[in-house]
Order: sequence, then C-alpha cells, then structure tokens
Amino acid sequence: MRLLATLLLSFLISVAFGQHDHRNCGTMEALEQQLQQDPSMRDRMEAIERHTERYQSGDNVQFRAVITIPVVFHIVHNGQAVGTGENVSDAIVLAQLDQMNQDFRKLNSDAGLVPSIFQGVHADTEIQFCLAQRTPSGTATNGINRVNGGQTSWTVNQINSSLKPSTIWDRNQYLNVWSVRFGGGDAGLLGYAQFPGGTASTDGVVVLFSSMGSVANPYPGGGNYARGRTLTHEVGHWLNLRHIWGDATCGNDFVADTPVHNTSNGGCPTYPHYSTCSGSPIEMTMNYMDYTYDACMYMFTAGQSTRMNAVLASGGARASLTSSLGCSAPGGGGTTCGTPSGLNATNVTSTAATLNWGAVSGATAYNVRARQVGTTTWASGTVSGTSVNFTGLTAGTNYEFQVQAVCGSTSGNYSGSATFTTPGGGCSDAYEPNNSRSSSLPLTPVNQNLSAQIATSSDRDWYRFANTSTTRNIRVDLTNLPADYDMELYQNGSRRRISQNGGTTSEVMIWNTTTVASNWYVHVYGYNGAFSNTQCYTLRISLSSSAFRTDGSTDGEVTEFEIPIEVLQSGFTMFPNPATDQLSLDVDLQADRAVRVTVGDITGKTHILRSFDLQKGDSRITLDVSRLPAGTFFVRVENGEVVGVQKLVIVR
Ligand SMILES: [Zn+2]
Repeated sequence: MRLLATLLLSFLISVAFGQHDHRNCGTMEALEQQLQQDPSMRDRMEAIERHTERYQSGDNVQFRAVITIPVVFHIVHNGQAVGTGENVSDAIVLAQLDQMNQDFRKLNSDAGLVPSIFQGVHADTEIQFCLAQRTPSGTATNGINRVNGGQTSWTVNQINSSLKPSTIWDRNQYLNVWSVRFGGGDAGLLGYAQFPGGTASTDGVVVLFSSMGSVANPYPGGGNYARGRTLTHEVGHWLNLRHIWGDATCGNDFVADTPVHNTSNGGCPTYPHYSTCSGSPIEMTMNYMDYTYDACMYMFTAGQSTRMNAVLASGGARASLTSSLGCSAPGGGGTTCGTPSGLNATNVTSTAATLNWGAVSGATAYNVRARQVGTTTWASGTVSGTSVNFTGLTAGTNYEFQVQAVCGSTSGNYSGSATFTTPGGGCSDAYEPNNSRSSSLPLTPVNQNLSAQIATSSDRDWYRFANTSTTRNIRVDLTNLPADYDMELYQNGSRRRISQNGGTTSEVMIWNTTTVASNWYVHVYGYNGAFSNTQCYTLRISLSSSAFRTDGSTDGEVTEFEIPIEVLQSGFTMFPNPATDQLSLDVDLQADRAVRVTVGDITGKTHILRSFDLQKGDSRITLDVSRLPAGTFFVRVENGEVVGVQKLVIVR
C-alpha cells in the first residue's frame, strides 16, 4: 500500500507537460483529476497493481493465443466533409490501426533500428487490434463512428464530462478511441489515456486528430507526431504502462527491463544517451513510452509486454476484452461480410507460393495483400476463389499475407496475417554432424542468428555453448519453423528447460542462472519426426548480464534460485512458520531502501520475486504464499548488500 501511495504522490508533484520538442501527453493530469473526483480509484489501482505483481511473479504466466482487441474510432468533427480537417479519412484511420498493430506485434518497419543492447528485450506483445465489426447492440459497423460534436475544439473537461459519456461503447467490450481537436487550455495536447481502474463512462484514449496515421502514411502536414505513435503510446497507458522515466527524476515505471531514465526525452536523441541516474545506464529513448518524435520510437520491452498482458489475463481489469465478440460481424449473413480465416501457404518454393484461405459466406471476391515481413508496402490483388499464386519471391525470406472478403458492394475486414518462409537463400546446415550431446561439439556462437535444418525424421541438432561470469543469463529463441520443432536446454546431462509449442509457433526458453559452465546444450528436434529438407529454422542463443523476462507468451520466466549455504537469521523476522496462506516479514531499515524478496525451493526454482520500496524504520511486508505447494522453501531478503535468508515450511 505504501508503495502505491508514494507512487501516486509523485504523480501529484510531477509535471507531464513536455518542453517544446517533447510530446505532450495529458495522461498523468487526467489521472490526478480522476483521483481527486473519485478517491476509490486509488484502491482499484492498488488492487490492479497487486494482480500485476502476481502475474509478473511468473507462476501463473502461461501460453496463450494472441489477443485481438476490438477498437471503435469516434471521429469527432464539426460538420466537415469526410477526409477534411478533424473528419479524418477512413484511409488515415486504417493506417493508424495498421501502425498500432505493427508496433504491438514487433512488425514495425523501423524495428530493425533497435540498438543491439536492447534487442534481447524487444518484445512482440502478442496483443493486436481490429476495427469493431459489430456495435454494442449487435448491428454491423466498420468500427469508424463519425460524430458531429457541434464545436471545433475540446478541452479535457468537456471531453470527460460530455463527449465521452454520450458516445462511449461498452468499455468491457471495446477500446474506445476519440479523435478530436484539442482547444482552450488543452490546445497543444497530443493525447491522453485512462488507466485501468477508472470510471466506466470515460474509459479509453483520446488523441489529436492530426496525430493519426502511420509511418508509411502520416497525417498530411502533421509534423513530427503524425505517424500514429501517439495512439501506440496512449494505448500503452490504457493497458497500464507508465512513462519510462516513472514521472519523477530517476523514477520507477514498474518494469524491470527498462533502464532508469532521468526524465523524459524529446526530439530524436543521438544514441547512446546516458542516464545520470545510479549506474549511468544507456536510456531507452526509442521506447514508445518516452516523449520522442514518432519516427524515433519503435519498441516495447518484454517487461512492458508482461505488464500489459497482466491486465488482460484472467482476473485482470481488462480481461473481458479477450472474450468480446466485437471483432466478428453479426451472424446470419445480412449485409455484412465476414473475415476470412484458415490462412495458409502451400507449394512454397524459393520464388513462389500458393496462398489459401477458407470461404466466407456471401463473398463474391477476395482482396489479398502480401509483403515481406518488416516492410511497409503491400502487393495486392483481387480473386474470386479461395487461393492465389504469389510469385516473384526471394529465397530464404519471411512473408506475410492477409485476406479480405468482398460481398457485393460491401467488404469485410482484412484478416490477421499468416506468415511463411521461402526456402533456400543459402540455407545450409553448417553445424552438422551434431546429432548427439557431446562436450567435443564446437562452441556455438551466441547473440547471433544461426540457420540450420532438421533434414530427416531422425535428425536432431545439438548445440554446445558456454556462459561467462559477466553474461550468465540465457535466452534461446527458435523461430522461422518450417514444421513442428521443439527444443530443450541442458546443463551437462541435466535438462533445465523445455519448450514444446504446437505447430510452427516459435519456441523460447529462458534460464536466468548464477551457474557458469562451459557445457550448456540446446537440443532442437522435430516433434513426432517432423522435418523439412528445404527450409531452415533460425536459432539464437542470447546471453546477458541482466535477467531475461518473458512477454507472457511462454511458460514463464524462470530464475534460478541460489540455494543458500547457510541460513542467516539476522536481517528480518518472519512469521508464521510453517505458513499456509500469508507470510509476514518484519524488516528494520536504517534508511529508505528498495528491498527485494525472493522465495525459492530446494531445486533452485524461484516461486516468488517481488520488490518493495520501504521507508526507514520498521516495515512489515505481507506475502501471499497460498499458491506455493507444501514443502521447504528459502526466503531471501536483499537490501543493498545485506542479505538475509531463512528457511520456510509450507503446510497444506
Ligand atoms: Zn503518456
């Protein structure tokens, strides 16, 4: 409780209005105002924070499908023709949606600009967005709601008190986006969002109309903030992300894998830009939650992704969106046109592929668009059947395609992307023979992409690598899978991790460890004899000095718990012991300090990892241990250099 109270106090004294070349986000002012009007929001935010910490602690993170959130764009104008002034065109709205999808799925054309030191935490959030296909009352829509508001410009007060309540669609089913011209004392704002936990009638995101667009299709004449990144930033807030500088000098954004920033950055900072906060880290100025120009922000981190996914997970404040029907057109045919599904590519060669999809009821034709992953320009065409040949391709390259049904004079929405990889392009397996685990295998290069093949049903690939005392933490990514491949991580003969997603879904393993060894192994193999003798897979073994985090799409972050040699009774007291549901820790500090509490078991698995900002003197920390199985655990409290470890017994 004290943590959030401190956090909220810092909101009140921070000023989020930027300097001249900073973006101007009003989210924190909007929060301050809401907290004054509705003090109970503080408790709801605190509960959301506790849920997020539980989610981040890892033992309830599990594999899940990509989440698609239905979006309604309320285009607020003053009677102009569509495509004029505030009454922005459909094309700009579609470009904006496309940019948001690219940014959240790490498909943005500028993703390659992320510096190498941040590439390991650059995340696909596995959250995407569709234009709503049905209204709250169940009628068909294209997700663009044009509203003649009867006035040219709007203050935040006017928006919150009248515009939003009179136009909002059920916030439990839709992300509401209002596009407006800001006026009065709020002229100059780019946008603002409402955090999870706020009032239902005002929930959503408001953006300046001329901030809408995309990198490929910016709002005409919109300057440095016209490429759609304002909405990416604000939707980050709406999914509970803080500004990366924590809205305070060297503040806390509640994300572990972002560096500590002095304050906001504006314009387009030259890399590397060093923080003067403790440790002088290089600031992540290219993060969507900083204040830089649209063209100079291009990443979310894995920790930010986890924080956003927490509010969408079971029990999260926005979990109801995952079961919304908003992305599906109302049934029964009628005048609407469904979205194609079942997309796949067959007959894939180095230069061509056949793209296939399932028929949509009532469709008279299909628009198909395809492109190389990471590029911005679609190649498109229209066909009457449910397949098309896609030619002129480059060997060894990733492509994506989407399909839209046309039903007479109306058309539906484009589907999500399906991807495939063309074979060839110099793909050969330079690591064969590596069919068995052996310390005589050559060391595999780390922190770079490797291409290799599972060429027969009995082929299996073993890679040996070594970590070092300064780069101990391990992450392994297996991507571009031509078939159902799985992988395992071994330390000598002991298996540490396994990743076995179905189909061609990418695999990832994370093992944050204190063990330094020269014989770590990655084992890649085809499930049930799956193989491809034409297409390579991509393997990347990453080592880092800091712990890797997952993005919520895997079976969780695993941090190796250092089993204590001796139990240090000093430092804190702990009760009850044995415990069942709750554990209290009393800590006496000489000064205000950040304290980290870790609970691990005797196999070295970490079960709970939490941080607390405590004040000088006696503090009591309460841990929820109700999810721990019966058994023996160690509780470690770290406060700078002082470490206390005590043995805990859980009874059930
Ligand atoms: Zn902001």
